[in-house]
Parts: sequence; C-alpha cells; structure tokens
Amino acid sequence: MKGGKLIVFSAPSGSGKTTIVRHLLEQENLNLEFSISATSRAPRGDEKDGIDYYFISLEQFKKHMKQGDFLEWEEVYRDNFYGTLKTEVERIWAMGKNVIFDIDVVGGLRIKRKFPEETLAVFVRPPSVEELKIRLKKRKTESEEKINMRIAKASVEMATAPQFDFIIENDILENALAEAENLVERHIHKTISSEEE
Ligand code: 5GP
Repeated sequence: MKGGKLIVFSAPSGSGKTTIVRHLLEQENLNLEFSISATSRAPRGDEKDGIDYYFISLEQFKKHMKQGDFLEWEEVYRDNFYGTLKTEVERIWAMGKNVIFDIDVVGGLRIKRKFPEETLAVFVRPPSVEELKIRLKKRKTESEEKINMRIAKASVEMATAPQFDFIIENDILENALAEAENLVERHIHKTISSEEE
C-alpha cells in the first residue's frame, strides 16, 4: 500500500477529538478523507452505517480478524470491537487523498509504528478527567455504566500521550482547532517538499 499521508487523532472519549476531526475535514486545502472504522457496537444517536462507521456484527468482525483484513483492531471496550480495514486506506489513497483517523490510542500508535514516515499522530488532551465526565454526561448518548467505563479507561489513555508526535490541549476549542489545522498543514507540506527533493 502506498499513497497519501495518514493523520491520526487519538484521545479519551469525550475529549473533543471528533469535533476537531470534523473541522479538519471541512478544510478543502488539506485534502482529507475520513477513515470509516468497522465496529461491532450498535449505532448511537443519529449515526449512519457507511458514514460514521461500518456497523457489523461481532461474527462478521471476527471473520475479518481471521482473514487478516484489518490494519489494526482493538476491543476498545469489553465486547465492543473497532478496527480499520486495509481496504479503507486503499480506497482513500486511490482517491488521491490523505487519510484522517479518529481512533483509540492503541490503534493510533499502531498505525504510527506501521507507517512512521507517512503518519502524524496527535493526542488530544482534555483539561481533566473530571471535565471529561461532565462532557460525556452532557452528550446524553450513553448510560451511566457506559460513561463510567469510558472514564475508567481515560486515565490509562492519558498516560500514552507522550508517545504521540504532538499533544493538543483542548480547553479552548478555537485554539485547539487552529493548532490542529496548523499541524496537519505542516505535515502535509513537509511531505510534499520531501517528495520533491
Ligand atoms: P465511540 O464508541 O465513542 O464511537 O468510540 C470509542 C473509541 O473507539 C474512541 O476512542 C474511538 O476513537 C475508537 N475507535 C473508533 N474507531 C476505531 C478503530 O478503527 N480502531 C481503534 N483502535 N479504535 C477506534
């Protein structure tokens, strides 16, 4: 597989990384396309199959695992599997675009290890775990139990931040958006100039 660049945004759930990724996708000059992950979890809110995720059964997911179809996969929460299909990156690179991922920290670092040159790995840090809890409660899309599961995982995820290329502090959204745009733009340009050399 070869082609464009890979931009990974990873962070604990509720840190605002999805908002940042959506903002970046609107910037046409960055030429980004969202990597749609496959997941065995059920759709939430107004999520749509083939747009937010490829919603597949646990059986289908395990079949893909066995066939080696994933670039990376994780059981992010118990019985909830998420993964990036190799065909997804191929699809986007074939369009002549750069891939942007909204995936968990383990998956993000795995992609960085597989494609060290092409990948920009960014960790989005929320102001605090307490603030995360407030945001997840406001979202009202998950049960109390699911929120607690996500919070418990957040501290472990926060500890991986130093392994990323950059950390963006998301306390003031406007600043985080500007910083993200800047980082991605620089990564894409750096690549273009090194390819021209
Ligand atoms: P959610 O259920 O909130 O959509 O996602 C839960 C977590 O799984 C988030 O941290 C999200 O970024 C992550 N995730 C989504 N897709 C993938 C994927 O393909 N691979 C991995 N490793 N994590 C993913």
